[in-house]
Amino acid sequence: MKYAVVFGAGGFIGSHLVRRLKKEGYWVRGVDLKRPEYSLTEADDFIVGDLRSSSVVRQALQGSVDELYQLAADMGGAGYIFSGENDAKVMHNSALINLHTAQACVECEVEKVFYSSSACIYPEHNQRDSMNPKLNEDSAYPAAPDSAYGWEKLFGERVYQAYTKNLGVHIKIGRLHNIYGPQGAWNNGKEKAPAALCRKIAEVEDGGEIEIWGDGLQTRSFLFIDDCLDAIRALMKHEAFCGPVNIGSEEMVTINGLANLIMQHAGKSIKIRHVSGPTGVRGRSSDNALIYACLSWQPKISLHEGIGITYQWINRQVTADSGLQ
Ligand code: NAD
Repeated sequence: MKYAVVFGAGGFIGSHLVRRLKKEGYWVRGVDLKRPEYSLTEADDFIVGDLRSSSVVRQALQGSVDELYQLAADMGGAGYIFSGENDAKVMHNSALINLHTAQACVECEVEKVFYSSSACIYPEHNQRDSMNPKLNEDSAYPAAPDSAYGWEKLFGERVYQAYTKNLGVHIKIGRLHNIYGPQGAWNNGKEKAPAALCRKIAEVEDGGEIEIWGDGLQTRSFLFIDDCLDAIRALMKHEAFCGPVNIGSEEMVTINGLANLIMQHAGKSIKIRHVSGPTGVRGRSSDNALIYACLSWQPKISLHEGIGITYQWINRQVTADSGLQ
């Protein structure tokens, strides 16, 4: 039986990944500051601990670990990452986790590591045209991310690459692009656009109004969680290919378009009021040429289907929440 450790197992992607690894027959240890909020963990062992502490990291990697999935990070949606208010915290917390993790992987002889980098590492100047963003993997340098979060993710990539070069750590790097789905943050200030819009639309009556940050013409692409897990697993299973590689969708949509799609699923017609707020880059979509060439991976779930599943889940949370008040 293979033995996997998931850092960030109490979070959105981590809790889904634990479930996937269990289905595939792994023994799994999860580690996080908190247990998953919306389901019971399926991990065989779960350490509630702070990965900014090197001793917690080393303790979590005891035994012969075949695979470590490093998903722990101080992160959130635009309101958390792009407001600038959390920059020092984000950099300090996530850098400590990655520095300790890379070192402990050597000391504990971890076989293989997945590092969750982000689309936010790409230069801001390549994402000014909403209809034509440039995010192929080679365009990452010269580096000019638009957020402290993006700089820290790039620093994380460099840390692990240095440990590969000098100390032989077998690291695989995926640059995740806007992952969404059920059981993600939806109302705690860390939610991203799909969850935030699903919540706003679920909360308002037909004919009502919601707010959107910016003019809503900024573009993004969104990848459903199941497709993300397929890509991460395909990367980990591949003998030689290590990335960094984009893990995202090429189905680009404006934020207004995303809101309209959610309204269709909700069966509501709602007015949009555009207000100022943190919006991030003007245009962003994944470039999947490399991942398709190397792993034959492409998303299976359309935005329409994935948003339908996500809206239903958030609508249930909103209903349950209002019933409690
Ligand atoms: P998440 O916030 O739901 O999960 C991250 C988890 O890390 C949280 O449960 C948090 O408690 C944990 N964590 C933070 N600090 C910790 C610490 N000091 N010790 C222990 N645990 C700690 O986020 P997610 O959406 O599941 O993202 C997982 C990873 O993927 C993150 O590294 C994120 O930066 C990256 N990523 C996600 C997306 C996305 O769209 N969701 C996009 C790009 C990159």
